[in-house]
Amino acid sequence: MRVINGTVSTDEIKRMKVWPVPESFSKEIPKKGTNGSFWEDRGDRRHCGVDIYAPIGAQVVAVESGMVVDKGVFTSPEQFSNWKTTNFVIIKTPQKVIVKYAELGETFVNIGDYVSENQLLGFVGSVVDKTEITYSDPFYVQELADNDTISMLHIECYKAPVTQVQPYLAGNYFGERRPISLLDPGLYLRGVAKIAPAKSEMG
Ligand SMILES: [Zn+2]
Repeated sequence: MRVINGTVSTDEIKRMKVWPVPESFSKEIPKKGTNGSFWEDRGDRRHCGVDIYAPIGAQVVAVESGMVVDKGVFTSPEQFSNWKTTNFVIIKTPQKVIVKYAELGETFVNIGDYVSENQLLGFVGSVVDKTEITYSDPFYVQELADNDTISMLHIECYKAPVTQVQPYLAGNYFGERRPISLLDPGLYLRGVAKIAPAKSEMG
């Protein structure tokens, strides 16, 4: 697999059909190796998606149309006592990419719904109150609090059919070998532009 370095250029962002969090602090995909980047090494676990930091309550919209194939709880107090409940929504796109939108508070879609591009899926939630973080929390969570980047959209992509990724917790995989069905969401977000360029760019 080709390793992609660097961030997406402003031009590439413009070519993306839809950025999933219009109110995000940055419109760039986290650089390889930085906090929130894909396959980030978190010591005992690897990050399965990319994190797009945004204020709590920021709108999360569908990058592409598709069918809602699953939804549920993403984080909960059962995982860590001071974690709050956040939710995920999974959309299967026409190209059979499985896109998981996670760390959402309220969500507005249900399994079986067909969503269109740019449709509101939910709001960015809150996993932890940063004043409640302790040294027993995973180190990467303590770092998020230090950097004041505690609310985000966590977006994860898979090639269908998904083979189960286990052990897995809250967007992280406990293993060194990358599961074969797991895609780099950065490539997906850029690829969307190639699959369906904006009308204004189609000569
Ligand atoms: Zn994440």
